[in-house]
Amino acid sequence: MKKVAVIGCGSYMQSGYGCPGEWRCLKAAALGEGNFEGPSQVIAFFTCECPGRTVGPNMGMAMKLSEMKPDAIYLSSCLVKANPGCPYVGPQELAGILEKQTGIKVVQGTHDYH
Ligand code: SF4
Repeated sequence: MKKVAVIGCGSYMQSGYGCPGEWRCLKAAALGEGNFEGPSQVIAFFTCECPGRTVGPNMGMAMKLSEMKPDAIYLSSCLVKANPGCPYVGPQELAGILEKQTGIKVVQGTHDYH
């Protein structure tokens, strides 16, 4: 089973409009639905915090402390499909930062649930 990390948009999740941390990202990973290639083990789940500077360090810390490296990093659907969009860092830029720092593939979005 693949090991994955999921990163949500902290701004969106804290606003309480149907946060993906409730169940959507976790269900999609567990069942291998949405953008997951098959049932996947979530070994890290954390949020981006405006203006986005913490994502790289937090991913590094999660890998260091857990002593596990995910096979893929997923940006949550709320982060990727944000409307209005993030005023600080777009999902492509965020993915580029993470891929450069970790060498791990970053997938845009987790699920299609409503
Ligand atoms: S920087 Fe953008 S993606 Fe990150 S928490 Fe803020 S609004 Fe969300």
